[in-house]
Amino acid sequence: MDGFKHRGQRRQLIKLLRESGQFDEKVLEVMANVPRHVFMNSSFAEYAYQDKPWPIACEQTISQPSTVARQTTALRLLPRQKVLEIGTGSGYQAAVLSLLGGRVFSVERHEPLWKQAKLTLKRLRLNHVRCFLRDGQAGLPEFAPFQRILVTAAAPEVPNSLLEQLEVGGLLVIPVGPADAEQRLLRIERLAGADYQTEDLGSCAFVPFLPGLVD
Ligand code: SAH
Repeated sequence: MDGFKHRGQRRQLIKLLRESGQFDEKVLEVMANVPRHVFMNSSFAEYAYQDKPWPIACEQTISQPSTVARQTTALRLLPRQKVLEIGTGSGYQAAVLSLLGGRVFSVERHEPLWKQAKLTLKRLRLNHVRCFLRDGQAGLPEFAPFQRILVTAAAPEVPNSLLEQLEVGGLLVIPVGPADAEQRLLRIERLAGADYQTEDLGSCAFVPFLPGLVD
């Protein structure tokens, strides 16, 4: 499943990400151990270790490795923390969160992606990542509160449900903005009940956060 060639290409990619000096070392160590090609369609597998997004099913994309490194660094996930990911997609980001020690709950609105991600995670023995076929706009109220929430699709505005499901002291990392214009990556900390503090981490580009389920 993870051959010599892929391991070599992956080492090279991680070296480039490390040299950029922008990412947390623990995140890079985990990414060095996740076979990204296994999360992709075999026709793109040879490109898996280029720092690019690639098509997955349902007209979605697997996030670019530097984007995964950036979002995961921004999230400051600690081992054992409960983390909600909105937008499972391929399951790659969920695998990274899980190998960092997070207790991962991941939500996807496309049934084929949800099914495939579950299979891939199982193949890698990451069966403890909990995957849900849901509209992520509602979050996952029955498992709230979460210490960390990561959104991997760009929302026009921050959904209230996600703010409510964040534990006090917790962090929400979310790209906000329209699909066809500039989006900003925000990190929001819940300081107390209704008191939130937002940091702008710069511009970014994500697929849109859309309502409803699709099969
Ligand atoms: N984290 C993924 C990135 C996938 S792209 C990975 O590592 O591969 C973003 C994903 O968000 C897409 O799969 C898209 O279907 C999903 N998405 C968009 N809006 C959503 C919503 N309201 N609820 C759940 N998932 C959503």
